[in-house]
Amino acid sequence: MAKHLLSKSTYIKSLQCQKALYLHKKRPFLRDKMSAVQLAKFRRGTAVGVLARDLFPGGIDMTPKSPSQYQAKRDETLLALQNPEITTIYEAVFQYDEVLIMLDILVREGEKWRAIEVKSSRGLSDTYRQDAFLQYYVLRGNDIPMIDFELFYINEEYVLKDQLNLQELFISESIMNQAEEALELTVIKINKAKETLQLTKSPEVPIGTHCYKPYPCDFIGHCWKNVPQNSLLYLSSEKLEQRFEWYNQGTELPSQLENKYLFEQIDALKHNTFYLNHGIFLSASDSFDLSKPTFLKLLIHQAAVPTVQGTKPYQPIVLAVCAYQPHNQVQQDFYWNNTAESPDYEGLADFLNQIWQESSCLIVYENNTLDAVIEKLTGLNPEIQWLIFNNLLQQANFMLPAIEETFEQNTLQVQIFPEGKPLKEESWLLKDLLDNPEQNSSKVNFQLLQYCKSLYRLYQYFLKPEINP
Ligand code: SF4
Repeated sequence: MAKHLLSKSTYIKSLQCQKALYLHKKRPFLRDKMSAVQLAKFRRGTAVGVLARDLFPGGIDMTPKSPSQYQAKRDETLLALQNPEITTIYEAVFQYDEVLIMLDILVREGEKWRAIEVKSSRGLSDTYRQDAFLQYYVLRGNDIPMIDFELFYINEEYVLKDQLNLQELFISESIMNQAEEALELTVIKINKAKETLQLTKSPEVPIGTHCYKPYPCDFIGHCWKNVPQNSLLYLSSEKLEQRFEWYNQGTELPSQLENKYLFEQIDALKHNTFYLNHGIFLSASDSFDLSKPTFLKLLIHQAAVPTVQGTKPYQPIVLAVCAYQPHNQVQQDFYWNNTAESPDYEGLADFLNQIWQESSCLIVYENNTLDAVIEKLTGLNPEIQWLIFNNLLQQANFMLPAIEETFEQNTLQVQIFPEGKPLKEESWLLKDLLDNPEQNSSKVNFQLLQYCKSLYRLYQYFLKPEINP
């Protein structure tokens, strides 16, 4: 059989943008670096898929060790189907119509097979369905008699008791009927992708919201390189759809101004600087006592599969905290560390209460999952004043020339202090702590201190009226 042209991931890429598919296959060197967040998602998906195998134990694993094994594993899978002693296959490899798939779990049920694809998410997106429709198409093309095709995903209401109960952790949804109904459309989409791969040059696809939806594309650096720095596309106070509408109309200034600060924001963008309504910012910060602020960075882990009794999937667990107090005569930093297996809520509440004794307010960059964490800390002093820095910025109609509508601290600090070193991404810090907490905790604490110091610097910068009159 000829080598495959498409896989699940390249097919999904083609649904987002035909040019992305072309570049991925023919010009891979133009790809942007994969972000830490994307890598973390990928690792999580694989781990959950492997865990779900325990629901169907005793299977044989067809996972190819390298792409050179795809064809051999496909042949092995077909042979395994003929062997009545084999009842379960993991990562079964199939090919049809030049499309190669690997199915998470295939279980024999009488004369038929039950196909299962596992997702680590709390729901099923359209992309997951499209990817399952493709798999169904390939299985059907291989004449696999199927009793059902199901998608498994995480039940966010599941609570871990003494032992992990996989039956309760996963929710399953049959998508066989939907896949059957979508067959004709799936074929059209496959053919379109194949046509793209026959092209001798990259298809003309203008940039658009599809560059970020459903996923940020790998080729933004390449396709967006001619977008001027002061383009309306970077007017982060407006939704991406709105910005593209203006961009495609070639409009210099939007005709409908719903946001009364838009002219100022556009002016700031033209000068490649940020916009902040400083009056609002100062009056919003006036409601806090800023005489002795403490800057905090919490490193929060959200595991798809809970590891602690009484917790749910994706429930936030604080692994480390750094508190930085610049108001003391000698600037001080304090740390609290924990493990994902035994979250010490009492210890964390005590730590924060102690920090609070020497503070007038606790400042964090963003809320993120802070509310959910605080809810768990029954011993926490209710008088603690939390200042969420990003909320103040939003209230003050802050606009940063950036593509994101809400941006991380790192994006902000790189823009405001371009000469400084970027902060190490949180996904890497989490990975370091989860992989080897003993060896990596002091290294991670040092990085958390950099987050606190960066926040302190941003705080000082924005609180000085003369900087942004
Ligand atoms: S950056 Fe946009 S236009 Fe370019 S390949 Fe990606 S999705 Fe397509």
